[in-house]
Amino acid sequence: MRTAPEYLESLRERDLRLFVDGERVADPVDHPRVRPAVQAVAATYALAFHPEHRALARAQSALIDGEVNRFTHLFTEPDDLVKKIALQRILGRLTGTCFQRCVGMDGVNATFLATHGRAGKGGDGHARFVAWLSEVQRNDDMLNGAMTDPKGDRSKRPTEQPDAYLRVVERRPDGLVIRGAKVHQTGAANSHHILVMPGQALREGEEDFAIVCALPVDAPGVTMVLGRQPSDLRRGGPDAGNARFGGQECAVLFDDVFVPTERVFVDGDLEACATLVDAFSSFHRASYGGCKPGNLDVLIGAADLITREHGVRRARHVRDKLVEMTHLTETIHAIGLAASERSARHPSGVHQVDKVLANVCKHQVTRLPYEIVRLAEDLAGGAMSTIPSLADRDHPELGAQLAPVFGSDARARALRLLESMTYGAGSVPFRIECMHGAGSPEAQRIVLEREVDWDAKVARARVLAGLDDDGELSLD
Ligand code: SF4
Ligand code: FE
Repeated sequence: MRTAPEYLESLRERDLRLFVDGERVADPVDHPRVRPAVQAVAATYALAFHPEHRALARAQSALIDGEVNRFTHLFTEPDDLVKKIALQRILGRLTGTCFQRCVGMDGVNATFLATHGRAGKGGDGHARFVAWLSEVQRNDDMLNGAMTDPKGDRSKRPTEQPDAYLRVVERRPDGLVIRGAKVHQTGAANSHHILVMPGQALREGEEDFAIVCALPVDAPGVTMVLGRQPSDLRRGGPDAGNARFGGQECAVLFDDVFVPTERVFVDGDLEACATLVDAFSSFHRASYGGCKPGNLDVLIGAADLITREHGVRRARHVRDKLVEMTHLTETIHAIGLAASERSARHPSGVHQVDKVLANVCKHQVTRLPYEIVRLAEDLAGGAMSTIPSLADRDHPELGAQLAPVFGSDARARALRLLESMTYGAGSVPFRIECMHGAGSPEAQRIVLEREVDWDAKVARARVLAGLDDDGELSLD
């Protein structure tokens, strides 16, 4: 397993083609706009050596018959899913942001079960995937799980607008050539490999879009462009808010990239792709019941700290609001845990979360954090977005005069942290991601409508309304 410093060093060995604000960046690791996100990923490596959390952050892999970082692990034991949520809560609290490594973790599990038993349809993609994943586990690599296509006009199918989707443009005897883009790519520039997956179920005739494969992030033809975040120029400065960590999304461009056959896991198998998308979305929607409550712990802590500095912590309404914020946070966490606890074993050996509960979990995440943020803003007061730069405190003439404006160092910094998480750079991996990450709200409602057994509910209502006999419960 890699340590955090070893992970950082390994990133320097890549020849990544990354652009930030129109300029190619020579060394992404130290770039002020990239570094906080790299550090958040590094936390996933550090935890495997943490005195308190190392046991949770590690797992025993049957693939390589050895210990691996949990972020590369298959959910082969029933409690692996619950441990995942517990680990995500810890990391969410320690970093206050998205630590970016779960897309790869959920992605390898979805790919493993979707390719299982599909040999014969395009060769043994499952065996090739297992060989690749074994290497990922041995090296303890970070993956960019590449799912979301630009999609363009949502009323059109991929074949009607191929440029809006990643697809195969050439099949050679030794591999494939892919072209297109993946967008909103979490942690892409901090990764070693890209795991390409389809972003939606596909129909007959769309086989060129039904591709699952892996490639190095610096494969010829791959370009990454860093996404902007509000106030991201504050990164590394006194007003950053989160002094250590940040999230990251990139647009990843594929300009006729060659992928050798041994790295192609699915090619044109529509059924495998549908299984993969379905499994991934459930895994990742439950994941939000881990990371987001961890982030919310930080938000609640910042709001609490400000009320202490304001001398109002004991006021009835303040305590009430902090309790409400906690109650909503734990509601999300409870659903994520329940979805993971109520798991079922897939024939491949990987355990799957409860689909309905996973979707309910993510659906609550599109709502409850907004109320929690509202309460945090209420408690913080307007100063969270009106105080001057913390750099002004050091000004030889202004500093002393401004002291009452800033209040204590704790107040000033907590206000900036809250501002960052709610409206600044930290709001992208926290608030915006709560809405759209792992699928926008409507995606969860579609699954819920499809999965619920409406007729069973009607049947029971008919019995208790006296319309039908009770064949289910006898009191005799
Ligand atoms: Fe992990 Fe949460 Fe980030 Fe997804 S949003 S990668 S679950 S931290
Ligand atoms: Fe996410």
